[in-house]
Amino acid sequence: MNVYDGERMGELLQARGLTAAREDKLADLIVLNTCHIREKAAEKVYSDIGRAIKRAENRKPMIAVAGCVAQAEGEEIGARAPAVDIIVGPQSYHRLPQLIDAAASGKRAIDTDMPADAKFNRLPARRRQGPSAFLTVQEGCDKFCTYCVVPYTRGAEVSRPWAALIDEAKALVDAGAREITLLGQNVNAWRGIDDKGHEHGLDGLIRALDGMPGLARIRYTTSHPNDMTGGLIAAHGDVEKLMPFLHLPVQSGSDPILRAMNRSHDSASYERIIDRVRMVRPDIAVSGDFIVGFPGESDADFEATLELIKRVRYAQAFSFKYSSRPGTPAANMDEQIPAELMDERLQRLQALLNTQQQQFNQSSVGIGTTILVERDGKRPGQRIGKSPWLQSVVVETGAEPGTLLDVRIVSGGPNSLGGQPIITHERRHVA
Ligand code: SAH
Ligand code: SF4
Repeated sequence: MNVYDGERMGELLQARGLTAAREDKLADLIVLNTCHIREKAAEKVYSDIGRAIKRAENRKPMIAVAGCVAQAEGEEIGARAPAVDIIVGPQSYHRLPQLIDAAASGKRAIDTDMPADAKFNRLPARRRQGPSAFLTVQEGCDKFCTYCVVPYTRGAEVSRPWAALIDEAKALVDAGAREITLLGQNVNAWRGIDDKGHEHGLDGLIRALDGMPGLARIRYTTSHPNDMTGGLIAAHGDVEKLMPFLHLPVQSGSDPILRAMNRSHDSASYERIIDRVRMVRPDIAVSGDFIVGFPGESDADFEATLELIKRVRYAQAFSFKYSSRPGTPAANMDEQIPAELMDERLQRLQALLNTQQQQFNQSSVGIGTTILVERDGKRPGQRIGKSPWLQSVVVETGAEPGTLLDVRIVSGGPNSLGGQPIITHERRHVA
């Protein structure tokens, strides 16, 4: 979502006549779009500010801190980093141009409101973002998992209206997007009313996009297990453009830990969802998020997570050490887990997840499939595209980015696959 927000801030500044600097050190304005989800991410902003100032040599660029660190820390940022000119939260970045004007007078400009005037209505039209584009459909969260800052930094759950999303999707397709990934902190909690007055969940929006000419692929992320409706599961079985990939975070395989996290699902209900999706889409690639070392996590709790991973079999996953976040209930819980134990658990968990990812990639070798070519590869003549299961595929081809290219997968590494274009006369033999 920060990538999406960054693109939109870029478009906003371009509409004001600014252009991207050729080199970082030449920039007159530097916008640092920040993440507050874990301590490490939040701390990075301060080292980045220092680096930006050093790089600018004798000039003093205007520095804006945007995003969730700005929202959570507000004025404190100015105290820790006096060089910062603008502090702007994730719900008010449409006001960036006015903040630049205000800061030009030499006084720090701060805007961390969560204004009622919808930011999205105030942003300029979309520009070309490449073959694969992001589209934020939902923001914020009402779930209050006990470890998480999102409900505080991004605010309450809000769905963008149907018509605005259809219009933005059309604009993205007109600007060259062949794939759209629908985004939200809880994207599958999206609700809206179509132009005929019918109410829909995310599956309704996906079905509408399925009928959009020029758009070839649809993805969505990130989902919460409790919002995986029957309709959305069914869409995985019959919406042709919906890619066979599901990112469904579980965090832990231990029910007592899931309760302490306030996740409001347990391991069995999570696995039932995965089973139902696999029933309608047997080849679905399942992805997840995991936290190790939540306060009170025993060896047995951790083992339960490993067991869940073995049962689910993930195609890929993100995993993190628990990071205590100021203001969240978990920060005050007893039995915080020592750093070394968290390290050890994370290593074991990631070793298992890496093995599963490798197995998943290996199982793709030999198949014929279609990739969406996205960009150049490292070597001349190489391009990188994405398989339907979100694997990166490296191919020797002259096909331009945006091409849907039929390939045969010839090799599978831990992080990417190798493919060869399938020539037309051979295509008939491919199932
Ligand atoms: N809404 C999504 C997740 C959004 S945050 C969901 O509930 O699944 C992305 C991921 O960051 C989470 O899934 C979680 O794994 C991780 N995360 C959030 N807060 C964290 C914390 N305090 N420490 C470590 N990881 C955290
Ligand atoms: Fe954070 Fe996701 Fe839980 Fe919301 S549902 S509080 S975003 S982890």
